[in-house]
Amino acid sequence: MGGRGHGATLEVIADYHTHTIFSHGQGTVRLNAQAAARSGLRQLGIADHGPAMRWGLGVESLETFETIRRDIRDINEVSGTYRGLSVLLGCEANIIDFEGNLDIPPWLQSDLDVVLAGFHVQIRPRSLTQGMRYLVDRALSGMSSYVAKRERIRNTDVVTAALINNKIDILTHPGLRINIDTAELAKVSVQTGTLLEINCHHDDAMLAFVKVAARCGARFVISSDAHNPDQIGQYERGLEVARKAGLCGEQIMNVIAKGEDPEPKLARFRPSTHLAGSAKKRSDLSKDLHEYK
Ligand SMILES: [Zn+2]
Ligand SMILES: [Zn+2]
Repeated sequence: MGGRGHGATLEVIADYHTHTIFSHGQGTVRLNAQAAARSGLRQLGIADHGPAMRWGLGVESLETFETIRRDIRDINEVSGTYRGLSVLLGCEANIIDFEGNLDIPPWLQSDLDVVLAGFHVQIRPRSLTQGMRYLVDRALSGMSSYVAKRERIRNTDVVTAALINNKIDILTHPGLRINIDTAELAKVSVQTGTLLEINCHHDDAMLAFVKVAARCGARFVISSDAHNPDQIGQYERGLEVARKAGLCGEQIMNVIAKGEDPEPKLARFRPSTHLAGSAKKRSDLSKDLHEYK
């Protein structure tokens, strides 16, 4: 039995997707860090929702990330309190238009430790017309296979454009409640070096998605998407999906086989720097995408 092969018992060593009171989580940065330390995690990402989220579900403004950064600095600099744990400043950005732009601008993306992004329906779209077109198609897609097909192509274009035009380390809950071509998305994620998330908070149709994406060579990350510190350290649902999909430790960037040294794995996943090598591929892909429109 190979340590990292199929069938080994896997352990999550980093959780990049947790929310705090700065968006719609219940914990403070410190409470999340305490929970992560108790669970033996080595890295914790604070990934609050971007400001385009409606109804106060996102951060108040981009400046909020500076407040979170100060809270994180306090924790990382108190040596010994959370020995072995690094807290990372991240975000869960929203895709805000059909061109794949995010509500976290590029300058802030480069300034964060880790960039997560997701397709959320509850946002203020950048253009009202696009927002209306999206909602109308979504409402009609159940009644017309033509509209459903058009919606699927557009969703796939929008999400892949977001991957190509931004520095997204992790795409959160891919395909959750949207009709998307998973194989196409997975192929683009390989080119841009974006990890696809196995989300323990929403597991609707996750298994089917992971199986298709894995066949296309995608790499994954398991995360709690914790909205409460108690959910940090609870990865059973994600690990179960990984087991059922037949994934091995090599395909998931934040797990090790039980008892294995975590350092080599942590060193391999360097959010925001691991994308540098894919710059050329990104521009090639943008060209393809523009021709496709
Ligand atoms: Zn989300
Ligand atoms: Zn989330």
